[in-house]
Amino acid sequence: MTIDVLPDTINAVYVVAVIVFILGLKAMSSPETARRGILFAGVAMLIAVLVTFLSPGLSNFAWIALGVAIGGLAGWYWARVVQMTAMPQMVAMFNGMGGGAAAAIAAVELLSSLSNVAIAGLSIAGGVIGSISIAGSVIAFLKLQGWLRSKPIVLPARQVVNTVVLVVGVGFGAFALLRTDTVWLLPFFVVLLLYGILLTLPIGGADMPVVISLFNALTGIAVALDGFALVNGPLGDAGYAMVIAGTLVGAAGSLLTLLMAKAMNRSVANVFFGAFGATEETGGPIQGQMKPIDASDAAVLMAYANQVIIVPGYGMAVAQAQQKVKELADLLESKGVTVKFGIHPVAGRMPGHMNVLLAEAGISYDKLFDRDEINAEFPSTDVVLVLGANDVVNPAAHRKGSPLEGMPILDVEQAKNVIVIKRGQGKGFAGIENDLFYRDNCRMLYGDAQQVVGKLVSELKK
Ligand code: NDP
Repeated sequence: MTIDVLPDTINAVYVVAVIVFILGLKAMSSPETARRGILFAGVAMLIAVLVTFLSPGLSNFAWIALGVAIGGLAGWYWARVVQMTAMPQMVAMFNGMGGGAAAAIAAVELLSSLSNVAIAGLSIAGGVIGSISIAGSVIAFLKLQGWLRSKPIVLPARQVVNTVVLVVGVGFGAFALLRTDTVWLLPFFVVLLLYGILLTLPIGGADMPVVISLFNALTGIAVALDGFALVNGPLGDAGYAMVIAGTLVGAAGSLLTLLMAKAMNRSVANVFFGAFGATEETGGPIQGQMKPIDASDAAVLMAYANQVIIVPGYGMAVAQAQQKVKELADLLESKGVTVKFGIHPVAGRMPGHMNVLLAEAGISYDKLFDRDEINAEFPSTDVVLVLGANDVVNPAAHRKGSPLEGMPILDVEQAKNVIVIKRGQGKGFAGIENDLFYRDNCRMLYGDAQQVVGKLVSELKK
């Protein structure tokens, strides 16, 4: 079955889809409009997919519809049941799927057009990047899900082994291209998948934000390369939307990668090749003891403070404590206390995780301060409430030889009093002990963040 639609009409619809993509991306730059941005991007994708069905020369409609139905239903179901806290691994997986789809398109193009050097060359490039991206994203998923240890898994002579594996993988692709022989394609994809795994295993939990962003960017680039291959092939114009959408994802992902790397004070190369966090603690066991405090004493301390800075982390997201935090902040302000929020760019498990949760609870954006803005205020602050944060406030980052050395943190230890809400002795995602908890000015308020903040609210109301 074919439907006759002029190629110009189809291209015009692609342009509309691309404009909606760009509007969506723009809206995603602020938590207030991000929801709309996601909706726009979804609509743009739907338009692009639907109009592609009208492309002249497209066949196998039933197979395509089956693929769309399986992928669409699985994505819809997973997105409905996923917990907010499992969102990062879902994002990692969806990124990976994009890379996998790009690798699959490259494979099909290579099987059908290996003799066309332009198409095959672009497809080889798309295949390399797409395969690394899906394999690496699966490892990131397993680490974020807790099914693989988040600390770096460092194999012997990994730099040499990884380089050899990459060269061999690309070599198989080159053979396929030069000899126009599809027999080399299977080892080409298998070896590059292996490279994606080997590349990601040695990356520690704290560096996962950079990894996820980079694989996102790579997926976009792979899709764009495949799009160029399609433009050169029999389906012609259908590739343009992929080129533009892939370039948008590649550009946005690259910027996010650089921002995340800056937040960790690392170069992207260092994240991928440095096995940061693989060294064991050098400072010996931490001296001193953790000192508990109860909710009523903590409430009194905060009620008599001039300024309280709340530093949220992953534990706030797990406990879904943001609504209670809003109540707490409002109550403190009604007592004349200045309340600010110190937000670390990699707190939680997604870029912007804390901002989104706090915005959802209705906490005004002008109360949120990033690390560079708030760090100077800690020494003159009476109380800092660390709410389920750990790595982002770990002073070990200032210590030479520490696995976290050099990572910029929120310097909460400089405040007059620090109250840490967490459930027990759990370490942060990087798996490093936190000596903040043992300092003289620090008190531990144990329990689930939502329940404990609820208790603080009740105490303040008394
Ligand atoms: P961390 O993961 O370092 O620490 C979270 C702390 O919260 C734990 O120590 C845990 O201690 C506590 N906690 C867990 N559940 C609860 C709960 N229900 N109530 C109270 N406390 C709880 O979080 P941070 O936000 O400080 O740091 C984020 C880490 O994740 C960084 O290493 C970052 O690099 C990494 N990361 C960030 C990503 C991003 O894009 N933002 C992506 C991937 C990784 P206990 O068990 O004792 O309660």
